[in-house]
Amino acid sequence: YQLKRMDSIAFTCNLLLSLFCLSFVGATESVKWCYEHPKCGPSTWNKLGTNMCNGTRQSPIDIIQKNTARNSSLNEFSFKGYDNAAKLIETENNGHTVEVKLDKGVQLSGGGLSTTYTALQFHLHWGNGSMQPGSEHKLNGKQYPMELHIVHIKENEASVYDSERIAVLGFFIDVSSKLEAKSDAAWSKFSNLLQNISSKDSKIHLNDSFSLNDLISGVNLTKYYRYLGSLTTPGCNETVVWTIFEDPIVLNSTIINLFSTNLYFNTTSDHNKMINNFRPEQQLNSREVMASMEATVPMETTVSMETTSPSTLGTTASGTRIGQEKTTLTALTVLAPILIYFTL
Ligand SMILES: [Zn+2]
Repeated sequence: YQLKRMDSIAFTCNLLLSLFCLSFVGATESVKWCYEHPKCGPSTWNKLGTNMCNGTRQSPIDIIQKNTARNSSLNEFSFKGYDNAAKLIETENNGHTVEVKLDKGVQLSGGGLSTTYTALQFHLHWGNGSMQPGSEHKLNGKQYPMELHIVHIKENEASVYDSERIAVLGFFIDVSSKLEAKSDAAWSKFSNLLQNISSKDSKIHLNDSFSLNDLISGVNLTKYYRYLGSLTTPGCNETVVWTIFEDPIVLNSTIINLFSTNLYFNTTSDHNKMINNFRPEQQLNSREVMASMEATVPMETTVSMETTSPSTLGTTASGTRIGQEKTTLTALTVLAPILIYFTL
């Protein structure tokens, strides 16, 4: 998710005298961040002035399916305007990603969300072509070639400190082994526009040729994981309720390669192609990742077969297993010093 305020500060900055500008950027610090240089890359973000990049509920994370907990409130989503191509207004190279602005009236509710959210924009993260992965989230340690983020905000203007102010739908994008994949038609139209917005701040209007639904067709929207996290760009605000879908969008390699070959972080004359624009994995800490009713939770089946008590079957199965592992760990922690004492 891109923080617009920073872009506008940077833009205003460009209009001012460069000397004043330098001191201004230096003073605020939060203005300058990037993916491509060691000086301003993701490892430096936690040193930026007033942001939250060193917090305890940061994104992205690695989602380990067997460690997720089934949650019966994670039911089907309700989408409004996702089928309307006219809602996609314009696409822009903002210097960090390609972003598509959405018109009013695209809404998301259900899926265990507490209220209705309105979609603002979608954007992507990628590596370098179909061979070098660049998704932000991982699934069981696997990083996918790309990741799509559809960003929504609470409809009734929530406080900026609301811990679920923003709802992001995250879709993995995988490369297809077949020549043509299901979503290819829409993605082909979208990716062919990228050559027109190679440089930072360039944008073009979209002409109603594809909808959000066209981009996510083929994904089972009832299979997803849920956790509380942050924006994945500075200031890394911890105000995001994340939904990561289990099924990837599958595209052919030609389409995936267009993102890393047509866009530049700055201008084409810089020869600095927009690649690897993802934040690396963050610590899960004490958070729990929940699984929707239809999502895959591998350990659940194994535990159900292992257990002898019928009362531990079903939704509590994964919790039981985690509990057992914790007990074993605690026992080892207590016993180890005693054993060492007697050995000595
Ligand atoms: Zn994003």
